[in-house]
Amino acid sequence: IRTIGVLTSGGDAPGMNAAIRAVVRTGLYYGFKVMGIRKGYNGLIHGDIEEMTARSVGDIIHRGGTILQTARSPEFKTEEGLKKAVSMAKVFGIDAIVVIGGDGSYRGAKDISKLGLNVIGIPGTIDNDIGCTDYTIGYDTAMNTVQDAIDKIRDTAYSHERCSVLEVMGRHAGYIAVNVSISGGAEAVVLPEKPYDMETDILKPIIEGRNRGKKHYLVIVAEGVEGKAIQIAREITEKTGIEARATILGHIQRGGSPTVYDRVMASQMGAKAVEILRENKSNRVIVFKDNQLGDMDLYEALESKKTISEDLIQLSKMLSL
Ligand code: ATP
Repeated sequence: IRTIGVLTSGGDAPGMNAAIRAVVRTGLYYGFKVMGIRKGYNGLIHGDIEEMTARSVGDIIHRGGTILQTARSPEFKTEEGLKKAVSMAKVFGIDAIVVIGGDGSYRGAKDISKLGLNVIGIPGTIDNDIGCTDYTIGYDTAMNTVQDAIDKIRDTAYSHERCSVLEVMGRHAGYIAVNVSISGGAEAVVLPEKPYDMETDILKPIIEGRNRGKKHYLVIVAEGVEGKAIQIAREITEKTGIEARATILGHIQRGGSPTVYDRVMASQMGAKAVEILRENKSNRVIVFKDNQLGDMDLYEALESKKTISEDLIQLSKMLSL
């Protein structure tokens, strides 16, 4: 392997720039040529590719988003698009591609690998919903952004004796939701992984809290939950008489300067991807498991499943008294 391509794909996440920077600089350090591929798999198909230098990744470590930009590429999912992508890699002399993205992007990487191009995956998504790893780039920053919003909302909820119902991201995963329910001191949390009962899981803790003297309330709803924040807020108002307001945080959770944790992890993951290529290993993904940075076979990674911690769910409930 002489030339490494790097791209970001799927939803952007704070810390992706730190990972790109690490791939480029570690790559150059070891004598590889590094090519930046813009707009995910789309850029690969259309040859939106440029050689990277140490300077082209200067002044980006603190920036959210991704300087390479990202895209969802339906064309890449077609046989023709995939073939174009692989032949474009050949045109630019790219021997291996580092893909920073979520599990959808890993599926794309698997398709590329079947056509003989070496790929390394780096987990990048705020949702933390990749089965093979305990951590994904951007997850920590997103949780801190949510926490910041909770602290602000709490001030106004207290002043008006209201109930705030906050919808947080995570697609079909409740990792952000359960953690911020603990860090933000929520009365209730609703997760996509668990069926919930309006009476026992939401109304009861609020009413019991009121009886114990609470003046304001916080309910966290993960975006993948049926019913959603607005409807849940309406029902709380109707059934308890407490004024409930829904806030949907949306894309604010995807932006912002990455936390120290995300920057350091992304840097380590980027460097690890290059080290793996140096060892001539192929089709691997970088994982963080049991507090250890490692790598794993791409195909195996796609089969891995993880579940949300029951201990965290239980703790969230216990602390809401
Ligand atoms: P996030 O979790 O942040 O949304 P993601 O990587 O899961 O990130 P997707 O939109 O699912 O985001 O995937 C990104 C791109 O990867 C798609 O636009 C497509 O080009 C490719 N891709 C996704 N799923 C597949 C698949 N099943 N087979 C081949 N390629 C895929």
